[in-house]
Amino acid sequence: MKEIFLCKYGEIALKGLNKSQFEAMLVKEIKRRINEYGKFSVSRAQSTIYVDPLEEIADSDAVFDELRKIFGISTVCRAAETEKDMDTILSVIKEYIPPLLAGKRTFRANAKRADKRFPLKSPEISALAGGAVLEAMNGKIRVSMDAPDATVTVEIREEHAFVHCDAVKGAGGMPVGSAGKAMLLLSGGIDSPVSGYMMAKRGARIEAVHFESFPYTSDAAKEKVLELAKLISAYCGPMRVTCISVTEIQERLRDTVDEQYFTLLLRRCMMRLAARVAKDRGCDALVTGESLGQVASQTMLAMGVTDPAADMLVFRPCIGLDKEEIIEIARKINTFETSILPYEDCCTVFTPKHPKTRPDILKVIAEEEKADLSALEDAAFEALEIHYTDN
Ligand code: ATP
Ligand code: MG
Repeated sequence: MKEIFLCKYGEIALKGLNKSQFEAMLVKEIKRRINEYGKFSVSRAQSTIYVDPLEEIADSDAVFDELRKIFGISTVCRAAETEKDMDTILSVIKEYIPPLLAGKRTFRANAKRADKRFPLKSPEISALAGGAVLEAMNGKIRVSMDAPDATVTVEIREEHAFVHCDAVKGAGGMPVGSAGKAMLLLSGGIDSPVSGYMMAKRGARIEAVHFESFPYTSDAAKEKVLELAKLISAYCGPMRVTCISVTEIQERLRDTVDEQYFTLLLRRCMMRLAARVAKDRGCDALVTGESLGQVASQTMLAMGVTDPAADMLVFRPCIGLDKEEIIEIARKINTFETSILPYEDCCTVFTPKHPKTRPDILKVIAEEEKADLSALEDAAFEALEIHYTDN
């Protein structure tokens, strides 16, 4: 018996004229992601993508997990492919379905007949399928039409029939790359990897920029950030990570400006440098992990003075999330355990005791002029270092 994967897409199905372009992107991404597991045919029909192994697949659980991480797919379902002959379909049901119903108390059978030439009508197919399940389960399950624990479906398509149980939730969202490219300011914390994931979910291709402050921050801190980039690559795709050292900039700020403005000025500098990398790389926006009121530099007024330094659209997908909610996503995407490793971040070097939470832009700019950063920023930009991560 051959098992295939049926991927349904959610929002793409609602797209009008551009639909086929989105579908093509999704098919391409699926091919790229499952390539290492064997040879597949990936085709589409009726808002479903069929992922069909062309050879014996050693690890079909891994393929299933991979498909569940691809943005643009709303549900994934494993299905047994059979000939379009009712006796064969029933024997496949008896073999394939019982393990999938383990622990369930009720089910219903359902039939979808895309091929109207098939000799039996949907209600007859469902009745026979339901009977086959009951027989194979030997009294261990009952039928419930209203609120079943599971639904067993027989689909009669053009070439083959398919038998499957309920689909599971996919990653949702839109195919990566369908919404342009954005530059993520990636720290070693919990929030920024989550923000990158959230933007990629809506179809943004993500690149990252990380600011380090060697020797105040260690190589281990940088390795941690690259590991985070690798972890989110499982969803976002391969990622280019630009590392920029801001050590001299931080030392200059420490030596020249009113301490209360240190963090804000460093953040403005990060925004300027990130925007520079972003423009060079053809990105249309920056992305940060800021969340309203989380720390002093994330008050409305503080973000109001850092934002204009970017001279570019800035997305903050975590802005309205509580820390608990951000952590929940971080756990789901497997970044949490790495994020909480205790390494220093450049933002925690020379931090003031009393940062400004209600800064005045004119005062901020006056302090910034004292530091005279532009030559240092040019030098930092010239010395940038590039890494690639993939998962
Ligand atoms: P995170 O958990 O993502 O580190 P945070 O709550 O610790 O965020 P901050 O350290 O104030 O907040 O940083 C806010 C945002 O600024 C981060 O989410 C990230 O987008 C960006 N950022 C902070 N430090 C760096 C860094 N060293 N390199 C790149 N971006 C950074
Ligand atoms: Mg941080």
